[in-house]
Amino acid sequence: MLAVVLESKGVVALRDFGVEEHLGPNDVRIAISHVGICGSDVHYFQHGNIGDFVVREPMVLGHEASGTVTEVGASVIHLQVGDTVCMEPGIPDFSSIETLEGMYNLDPSVRFWATPPIHGCLRESVVHPASLTFKLPENVSPEEGALVEPVSIGVYSAKVAEIEPADTALVIGAGTIGLVTALGALASGCSQVIVSDIKEEKLDLVRKFYGNKLVCINSAKENLLEAVQKVAPRGVDILFEASGAPDVLKDFTRYVCPGGKAVLIGMPVGPVLFDVVGAQAKEISIKTIFRYRNMYPRTLNLISSGALEVKPLVTHRYEMRDAVEAFRFAASAPADAIKVMVSL
Ligand code: ZN
Repeated sequence: MLAVVLESKGVVALRDFGVEEHLGPNDVRIAISHVGICGSDVHYFQHGNIGDFVVREPMVLGHEASGTVTEVGASVIHLQVGDTVCMEPGIPDFSSIETLEGMYNLDPSVRFWATPPIHGCLRESVVHPASLTFKLPENVSPEEGALVEPVSIGVYSAKVAEIEPADTALVIGAGTIGLVTALGALASGCSQVIVSDIKEEKLDLVRKFYGNKLVCINSAKENLLEAVQKVAPRGVDILFEASGAPDVLKDFTRYVCPGGKAVLIGMPVGPVLFDVVGAQAKEISIKTIFRYRNMYPRTLNLISSGALEVKPLVTHRYEMRDAVEAFRFAASAPADAIKVMVSL
């Protein structure tokens, strides 16, 4: 079948590629319709690795997908041929202790699409566990379906933060994950959400689509603490750290109110310093997340109800035949792009 293959560092090809897949009784086969290009896909393309995950053999890219069910396994009852669906890209060992305890995203043996050596989903079809495949509500388009993956990170961050009605929040980092986190926080009950970044172009994009909902601050030009205090004089109830920048992690505690919370989402490249006493003096609860779990149904409901408006996130569209060009474009880090989407 036709697939977008990362041959080696810096080399992407659209070509025929065989992936051996067997449709088990609890699986469905899905014809892929949309795949969003993620920062991780671009990172593997440019660097050939993310930390210890190294691309050693040709690997199909892509993990943010939607499609149409074309075949169902004998034991599948909640899906039918013709259903439009989106899929969770991480397949855990269903009998691991982590999975049995409900933390399947933390299963060390999870097989995550386009994380070497596991092939991704930028190909004509995939076989996938039905339990990780979710039917789209009628008013959610396949393109929106492919956004459920990154948006679930934002919704999960909001859940982990245990947002209370009318909480205030600061999201540091206005990339795709920072933006979906800000939207997730609003949809989950925050009254005011500030988004900060040091790149004006990123904030311009956020302002363009969500300026009526989010307060945007360029922390390279404005004093972020003063800006926060205008919205929340004692500091915000919740800080979402989505930059992974050591400079931010060093002293994020000053933006949080006494008794507040911080959720660490951004991944610094290595260990970083941080102000322990600053956190202790305010009894800040520091939480971390890794991907998400059990978020797809909630995210779909928020999109379907209109609480989460995701359509503006797709800024650039390519067809499968131009997928290599789509990767080159995404890798050039264009200032006006949020999500680059490939349709099949
Ligand atoms: Zn992603």
